[in-house]
Amino acid sequence: MVEIKNPVYDSMSVATQSIHADSYLRVTSDITPPINVTTNFDYARTEVDGFNYGPDQRYVYSRDTTPIVTKVEAALSTITEGYAVLYGSGLTAILAVLIEHKPKKIALGESYFGTRKVVEQYQALVPGVEVVGIECGFEGVNLVWIESPFNPTGEVKDIGSYALRAHAAGALLVVDSTLAPPPLSYPFRQGADIVVHSATKYLGGHCDLLAGVVVTKSARSTETMRAARNTLGLGAGSLEGWLLLRSLRTLTVRVKQQSQTTARLVALLESFRRGACASSCHQPTAAELSLGLRIASVQHASLQFLCSKSSSKCGFDVLRQHPEGFGAVFAVRFASKSQALFVARHLKLHRFATSLGGVESLVDWRHGWDASADPTLLRVSVGLESYEDLANDWRQALLALDATETGAKL
Ligand SMILES: *Cc1c(COP(=O)(O)O)cnc(C)c1O
Repeated sequence: MVEIKNPVYDSMSVATQSIHADSYLRVTSDITPPINVTTNFDYARTEVDGFNYGPDQRYVYSRDTTPIVTKVEAALSTITEGYAVLYGSGLTAILAVLIEHKPKKIALGESYFGTRKVVEQYQALVPGVEVVGIECGFEGVNLVWIESPFNPTGEVKDIGSYALRAHAAGALLVVDSTLAPPPLSYPFRQGADIVVHSATKYLGGHCDLLAGVVVTKSARSTETMRAARNTLGLGAGSLEGWLLLRSLRTLTVRVKQQSQTTARLVALLESFRRGACASSCHQPTAAELSLGLRIASVQHASLQFLCSKSSSKCGFDVLRQHPEGFGAVFAVRFASKSQALFVARHLKLHRFATSLGGVESLVDWRHGWDASADPTLLRVSVGLESYEDLANDWRQALLALDATETGAKL
């Protein structure tokens, strides 16, 4: 059994961990680890009881694992404060949790549509599995599954309160933390039992790999998950592992910056909507006041935070759950579907494409993927461009919308 992480790094900051936590597994003097493309490895060690190799043989066949995947898992285990197993995609990681725990009753909160589809596949395979919502009681529920922040609005859920309710009912709490990786959130601190990530998003961060992660609180539970991953071929390839490790090195600077830019953009668009600046940071011009008329709502955890400061109705302490930022996905709703699509097509720096978490800002019309999504909603994933340029991009798209709407009325 491979040691999953080196506790020497546990006390260091996440910025340091994401650069060094896998270094104890270094086998060459390369600063950047080599890519291993091999699928099989020499039987180099001891023979045990007539088998070709003993327990000291670390690598045998790449369906089981590879050196680069082990390094990625070491880094991920350290930064997520758990024990990580890497999969071929986020949805594969979600399936792996279901295979491991075989729930008969699942309470599923607002989720990425793909998550709901995986649960449907699981129901098709295992007759009698019941799926309920998360707002009622959890009686008989085995797994409570929430996303925080959730896709597509970037709003957060009170993980601590779901953990209490799940545990009182004898259920495990799974948190899909894709939209707020470390250092933005640490769901185990609020009582989550299992954390999943689509590593395709912020952990990968460059829209060039597909991978997923399941993180648990014990090294033991990774053993059965690894065995199932091997049997079913659910793992990630070496190139994906290599790209992911490369990306983790810059994780903290990327997500903190993306998160900061997002909070500013959200405040700007919300100030357009309100026709006055909520935080006196920006006085809207007359043109901007008319821009805001088309925006029906802006949603993001930073607005939940502002609300929680002014009213106890807004619930829990969002800042405590997100000490370093609220995430870089938000949603804007317009008065109509055609306005939403007009803006998506007229944003120039924001590419009109699905997915999120990369260095380039993206805007997506979720209704095109998910018939249950609001057709007036655009999901925005903020990249690493400057705030000023992104803000100007919104201004010009909203001005173009205003021009066509006013023109149409004349
Ligand atoms: C994208 C996404 C997934 C699925 O991940 P893939 O890597 O695309 O399979 C799961 N959960 C959330 C919240 C996501 O955004």
